[in-house]
Amino acid sequence: MIRLSTRTLLVLGLLFASIFPLNFFPHAQDLPAGTHVQLSGKQGEVLVVTLPVSGHPQKVVGHLLKRDIIFFPIADGEYAGLLGLDMQDRPGQHDLVIQVEYPDRQEEHKVTILLMKEDYKVQHLKLPKKMVDLDSKTLARVKKESKVLHQAFDSVVPKPLWRTGFIEPVQGRVSGRFGSRRVINGQSKRPHSGEDIAAPNGTPVVAMNSGVVRLTMDHFFTGKGVVLDHGLGLFSMYFHLADVDVSQGQMVEKGQTIGKVGATGRATGPHLHWGVRLNGSRIDPYSLLKVSVKGMS
Ligand SMILES: [Zn+2]
Repeated sequence: MIRLSTRTLLVLGLLFASIFPLNFFPHAQDLPAGTHVQLSGKQGEVLVVTLPVSGHPQKVVGHLLKRDIIFFPIADGEYAGLLGLDMQDRPGQHDLVIQVEYPDRQEEHKVTILLMKEDYKVQHLKLPKKMVDLDSKTLARVKKESKVLHQAFDSVVPKPLWRTGFIEPVQGRVSGRFGSRRVINGQSKRPHSGEDIAAPNGTPVVAMNSGVVRLTMDHFFTGKGVVLDHGLGLFSMYFHLADVDVSQGQMVEKGQTIGKVGATGRATGPHLHWGVRLNGSRIDPYSLLKVSVKGMS
């Protein structure tokens, strides 16, 4: 048995879009002692980080840019964490500090994350004036609804409810790209935090993975919507639905119909707004389709 400190046994599986498959990265045992580990990813991407862990820690948690990433066991002596890089995270080098907590001691690992800028496009949109220049009553409503939505993200299910193999909730033409900088009626607005997929009214919308229905709503901007909680800080959102077919607290399976495509809320035509939040980061939903974690299928 080769004796190496856990620090040198750091293995990283990086999911780097379509460029490298997950298994591109070698196993810890193949890394020479003292290897400096660096991962890179773009704004809006998901990275899968795996870590060999000895013994039975009580908790394995990573910290990156003030976010907590809870690692979970995937195999004997191995933990994994999904790292979301927010669409507006500052490009450059950031430290991911992983703490492995045992009853009597704590180990710490540091990984450098090289965060690269994504080249987001500008999207010009024309919308009815009353949907953009909000009166004070509507503004108050929007603020309240935003609070309700964000409270849903406070939920912490201590284990992943998903399995590897995320799917698209509806198939269609992407009509609004994730991250695009939006100019609505000539005014610069917040970047688009999801993908808009155009599909005919009434097309079934399915869950991208298994989880629990954390919120169903009918809000000014989002229209009728569903928020699914997939555990450990991973949430998916489905907005502008014509109908919602699930209720709060219900468990759903991957591929289960949760609603139908519509144009409720602020929408120019029938489409699904599909958004994903991971540990507080707004990430590109399509980057999840490439996620594969050993032992999670
Ligand atoms: Zn949208």
